Amino acid sequence: MDCGEGVQRQVLAHGIGLGKDMTILVTHLHGDHVSGLLGLLQTMSLAQRRKPLDIVGPPKLLKWLKVTSDLLHIGLTFPIRFTQAKPGSLLRTEGFRIRAAKALHSVEAYAYLVEERARPGVFYPEKAKRLGVPEGKLWSKLQKGRPVKVDGRIIHPSTVTGPPRTGRRIGYSGDTRPSPGLARFFSGCDLLIFDSTFSAKDGDKARERMHSTCVEAAQLASRARVKRLALTHFSARYTSPSSLVREARKIFPSTVAAADGLTLDVDYPSE
Ligand SMILES: [Zn+2]
Repeated sequence: MDCGEGVQRQVLAHGIGLGKDMTILVTHLHGDHVSGLLGLLQTMSLAQRRKPLDIVGPPKLLKWLKVTSDLLHIGLTFPIRFTQAKPGSLLRTEGFRIRAAKALHSVEAYAYLVEERARPGVFYPEKAKRLGVPEGKLWSKLQKGRPVKVDGRIIHPSTVTGPPRTGRRIGYSGDTRPSPGLARFFSGCDLLIFDSTFSAKDGDKARERMHSTCVEAAQLASRARVKRLALTHFSARYTSPSSLVREARKIFPSTVAAADGLTLDVDYPSE
């Protein structure tokens, strides 16, 4: 999500891998969100990436990529599949669905929601045995949600598994003012990463520059009933984000400050 300056070094430092299946979501065309993208693409080419790379972003992103990679003679070793951001469902991969909503910033900007696909329900081996399904390949088929044939009978996975389990949902605001539309968009998500450029006392600056304060982020998280909030994009005027986190926690206790290399485990909704 977004590619700030030096992103390729962060990708390497955190062992993400340059050849993996990857979808890059760019929220808007401001330098601190996009200037690292070319470096990342170049590093991927040096590593001889072959797999196509999905990039989602505002329409001008593709134009910028084409012009700059032409001018700088960047020959990519892999194809780019570009998806133009617009409100609604954008992309379905094997494991995820990606949706976008309009963000309220000084330039065209989008917020994203990454939704993990629902997993098949819990498998009950006793039920499968009772129906005469032999252990092995057929069990694993049923576990993956596919019907099987035993002695001419079709056994549906629903007869040997529990209800499907909901996938996890992660939201990312990019730079934005808060809005009721965004609260609806992020409703109930398991982790929300939200713009928190300013402290509440600098609210006028947040309005002027089309960003959010930590308190506005917390209010939106509370309205949207998200499970957890990670504040990000802190202005350099604050020496540490801890005071912003404290302000936010008064409204939404389950708040942390995002930081380079921070790892958060996201639990499955009902577990
Ligand atoms: Zn911006």
